[in-house]
Amino acid sequence: MKNISFQGKKVLVRVDFNVPLDKQYHITDDNRIRAAVPTIQYILGARRFGHTHVAPRQAAEKLLPDGSLDKERFTLRHLVGHLSELLGVPVAFCEEAVGPVAEQAAAALQPGQVLLLENTRFYKGEEKGDEDFSAQLAKLGDVYINDAFGTAHRAHASTTVVAKYFDKGAKGFGFLMQDEIDNATRVIDNPDRPVTAIIGGAKVSDKIMLLERLIDFVDNLIVGGAMAYTFLKAQGGSVGNSLVEDDKLDTALQLLDKAKAKGVKLLLPEDSVIADAFANDAQHATANSKAIPDGWMGLDIGEAARRQFADVILASKTLLWNGPAGVFEMPNFAGGTKAIAEAVAQATSKGAFSLVGGGDSVAAVNQMGLSDQVSYVSTGGGAMLEFLEGKELPGIAAMH
Ligand code: AMP
Repeated sequence: MKNISFQGKKVLVRVDFNVPLDKQYHITDDNRIRAAVPTIQYILGARRFGHTHVAPRQAAEKLLPDGSLDKERFTLRHLVGHLSELLGVPVAFCEEAVGPVAEQAAAALQPGQVLLLENTRFYKGEEKGDEDFSAQLAKLGDVYINDAFGTAHRAHASTTVVAKYFDKGAKGFGFLMQDEIDNATRVIDNPDRPVTAIIGGAKVSDKIMLLERLIDFVDNLIVGGAMAYTFLKAQGGSVGNSLVEDDKLDTALQLLDKAKAKGVKLLLPEDSVIADAFANDAQHATANSKAIPDGWMGLDIGEAARRQFADVILASKTLLWNGPAGVFEMPNFAGGTKAIAEAVAQATSKGAFSLVGGGDSVAAVNQMGLSDQVSYVSTGGGAMLEFLEGKELPGIAAMH
């Protein structure tokens, strides 16, 4: 973006404003909006003649019974006031993202003004990457800036296809997107060693590609969360009623073999906090992770595992953390995730580089108030995982 001249230009900026709202449509967490502010302000302020449109998105997670997006809930009109406050300039709103109304609103923009376009996901062409819809969007700007890392893994119209309507010198990444790419690259490209990845969460099946790829370059791979029990069972352990993917036992053994062959230390939790039901108020105790009694399930890593993992984390120079070590949403099973967050923060204070990426681990560091004590917290869950898996993200590739 820094190599582009914005003077006298209309700039189409793709942002990710997929923020949670309460029942009265008040924003309950504005991090995603804040994250885009430096890019918009740079375009507006550094070059006083910039015009900005912001073409945003919200995820289609709340569908109406007919499968369409609830427009009253997902209209970006709800965000105008807050965006205006954060930017320190008035923000106009356009009820359309493309078409004559949007084109007129764009044409009327004066230098320094900001226009927020309606949610691109209201249009069928968006998720299909439709050419016609992309061309219509492209008409609205002379320059295209993509600052939506969180959707970079999707080949949608406004994140990917639209880029081809702009010449090389008229498109680029915003600061957030560039930061995400730079920080993820720091982990995979010539990192300071030892490198330790801490992977947790529910399922091995979601993260096979990531684990495969990590084994190629990390020194230590810590596996926690429910995922660990598939590995422990594959090794012949008794894991009681813990969450296990029985069809992934072979995969787990292959990953263990690959780690061994590559000299990667793969750590599984020595002990677990076990419970007799999946509930915060269930009875709980500590057990060896390979000797969990029938009727009990591992819901967190135990005290010995916390020490075992912390020792490795504290001796590392580069850390990647994705996925909680236990059911951190329940206070009685959040201790392991908290211990990992604290160890990562402590290693960072001693000079390690730490990247926290992927939805639930980000929620965990935020919940524990440690997000400013790690080097970088990614805003892009799925996109960050795919980047780390070594996939080329369509939103990034489209800029070349
Ligand atoms: P993921 O989205 O794959 O990162 O998984 C995150 C989810 O895994 C969280 O909702 C956790 O509650 C859950 N989780 C972590 N550890 C366990 C466990 N031992 N048993 C069941 N669920 C777990």
